[in-house]
Amino acid sequence: MSGLGRVHIIGAGLGGLSAAVRLAEAGRDVTLYEAGAQAGGRCRSYVDDVLGCRIDNGNHLLLSGNNRALAYLATIGAGDTLAGPSEAFFPFFDLATGERWTVRPNRGLLPYWLLDPRRRVLGSRLGDYAPAAKLAFAGPQATVAGLFAGKPLLYRRFWGPLAVSVLNTQPDEAAAQLLWPVLLETFGRGADYCRPLIAASGLSESFVYPALDWLRQRGADIRFGARVRAIRYDDAGAVALDVAGETIILGPRDQVVVAVPPPVAATLVPGITVPTEFRSILNAHFRLGVVVPEVSILGVMGGATEWIFRHGELASVTISAADRFLDDDAETLAALIWGEVARALGLDRDILPPWRIIKEKRATFAQTPAQVRQRPPTKTRWSNLVLAGDYIDNGLPVTIEGTLRNGEAAATALLRR
Ligand SMILES: Cc1cc2nc3c(=O)[nH]c(=O)nc-3n(C[C@H](O)[C@H](O)[C@H](O)COP(=O)(O)OP(=O)(O)OC[C@H]3O[C@@H](n4cnc5c(N)ncnc54)[C@H](O)[C@@H]3O)c2cc1C
Repeated sequence: MSGLGRVHIIGAGLGGLSAAVRLAEAGRDVTLYEAGAQAGGRCRSYVDDVLGCRIDNGNHLLLSGNNRALAYLATIGAGDTLAGPSEAFFPFFDLATGERWTVRPNRGLLPYWLLDPRRRVLGSRLGDYAPAAKLAFAGPQATVAGLFAGKPLLYRRFWGPLAVSVLNTQPDEAAAQLLWPVLLETFGRGADYCRPLIAASGLSESFVYPALDWLRQRGADIRFGARVRAIRYDDAGAVALDVAGETIILGPRDQVVVAVPPPVAATLVPGITVPTEFRSILNAHFRLGVVVPEVSILGVMGGATEWIFRHGELASVTISAADRFLDDDAETLAALIWGEVARALGLDRDILPPWRIIKEKRATFAQTPAQVRQRPPTKTRWSNLVLAGDYIDNGLPVTIEGTLRNGEAAATALLRR
């Protein structure tokens, strides 16, 4: 017992877990309430019975410049669980033209790779990169497509695909302001900071199970099947939680972190604004039966497929802002996507391997200028209750990196009180 009061954390996604880790690190007693049977929320892995192997709910790409993500993994003892190509290179394939190219940033701050046609986007000229500076000055209303009038080649082959992947929102409505901080922290610092990384064994094995073990070793009380149905308040702050048929009375020094998705947060915390529109992500997993020695990532354009991740026996496809596919049946999607994967990887398109289609309908909130304005801050009007989760306003897109930062910001706000 720390004598400082217990911190009650609602939601064991990465937002809740990172807040818990930070608080436990500072010596605080924590209780984690998770509605589901497992932790991880939108970032988890499990055994798929059709494929007969572990898969992630969706491919999650990190970059080596994601400092907080790497620090979080180091803290929970999972610093060596990410894998990726040994160099910062991004191969691309255009299904429409059959062309291939590789973007290869150089080390260091000076981007001399832009001078080398073999390292930059195929068909682009040095001068084509200058309009990227507009991203630095994008106003709150600007969309990514709006900054690249006429949709030049570099927009179609780089900025558009980058925007839809990072913001999970089509570029013609995606908030341009969110892209610049990501670019500064990754590509802007050179090859050492934009090496692609994925969880080698699974998202849960990297981000979730080690965190739960780490927290349990520090005495954390972790409850599954514990849906918080309501928070009771008096004028000063939160005073009780209604959890799965039980009322938990908070002590005078107890504190609360609400780390649930935005629609749930709005029901638990009166008076906050939250984003109300969402975009889906579609993932297709194919078990190829051949193990690749090194993780590889291929950007694809000119079709539905956007990224192909090869790791272990799997080729896993990501399609962001995929709402146009939500009504399509899984068989149709598997056939469509496999045709593209087979072409991109040089495989036989007539032999469809075991597959699984996963549609995450509310993968992230729609990162449009209007919805970004709805992001609430960490602090609320109650001094003993703060918010965490990927939708909290931090000037960054909805990513693991941003989610972990928000969890830590929530913890820091409570520790300061
Ligand atoms: C398919 C997909 C692909 C993605 N790809 C990437 C990527 O490539 N790179 C990247 O950086 N990010 C990616 N993301 C984003 C990233 O996964 C999320 O931003 C992050 O996991 C959100 O974490 P969170 O804790 O805010 O929310 P959640 O993960 O939603 O966690 C909230 C938790 O709260 C629980 N909960 C809800 N209501 C209650 C209640 N009343 N009481 C108790 N518990 C409750 C839920 O069960 C859940 O476990 C992707 C997301 C998806 C879905």
